[in-house]
Amino acid sequence: MDDVLKPCPFCGGARIRSHYIRDGRSIGCADCGGSLRAYNGPTDITARLVSAWNRRVAAPADDRVREPLIDVMASLAAAISLLERSPKTVAASDKMFDMMLDDYRGSLERARAFFNGGTDA
Ligand SMILES: [Zn+2]
Repeated sequence: MDDVLKPCPFCGGARIRSHYIRDGRSIGCADCGGSLRAYNGPTDITARLVSAWNRRVAAPADDRVREPLIDVMASLAAAISLLERSPKTVAASDKMFDMMLDDYRGSLERARAFFNGGTDA
């Protein structure tokens, strides 16, 4: 590549690598895995990729954790629901079962509170 690549917008890493993929080319950070792809088209793919990479701006941390956190919350809510309908014999004791459920509910409530604007739930 002729153009100078800016460091990774996610981790600041300078080990940026590019390789051809099926129908296009990929560029990415060897340190964190952040990547970008472009597909063959009427304009120069390398120029488009370099330009896109150098314009890339990291999202704020809150935005980056939002989607995976929502996924974890949904999975936790489903697991809690399943446990509430399961026999307590899935745990070593009734007391342990109740403690586990309380812990899971607490985690879910703290995550929900975070999304509702509080950070010290
Ligand atoms: Zn990186």
